[in-house]
Amino acid sequence: MAELEGLYQELILDHAKRPRNFGPLPGANRRAEGFNRLCGDRLILYLRMEGDVVGDVRFEGAGCAISTASASLLTEALKGKTAAEAEVLFQRFHALVTGDFAAAGDPDELGKLAAFSGVSEFPVRVKCASLPWHTFAAALHGAAAPVSTE
Ligand code: ZN
Repeated sequence: MAELEGLYQELILDHAKRPRNFGPLPGANRRAEGFNRLCGDRLILYLRMEGDVVGDVRFEGAGCAISTASASLLTEALKGKTAAEAEVLFQRFHALVTGDFAAAGDPDELGKLAAFSGVSEFPVRVKCASLPWHTFAAALHGAAAPVSTE
């Protein structure tokens, strides 16, 4: 188990140092801002919906390693998903980081997102990990006000 945790930690650090899909998204048709007052994480999430499908998703901003890695892995996980599939994944990810492993379901199906399972042991980090997902949901639903984790 320690070895698995090490791998997970490596994955998170890798995505924190070299975030994927970082930068503006030309042709974005949705956008939302997120801010985690507790930690100071800020991000802007850009989304291009093609009908009901996430055509592309990118982000900008500055945050801690957990929030940056979470945003990076979110972009990889959600591209090509339908809005409904994305909502289900959000629910499962949220369950995972809050320690509700029964609701999170089979870790294999969560793929790389399972790397965040350890976050539930650090309540202060839960908001860091979930901020990009709340911001994605706001972009998807076209919320006008910036997202705050408060
Ligand atoms: Zn943070």
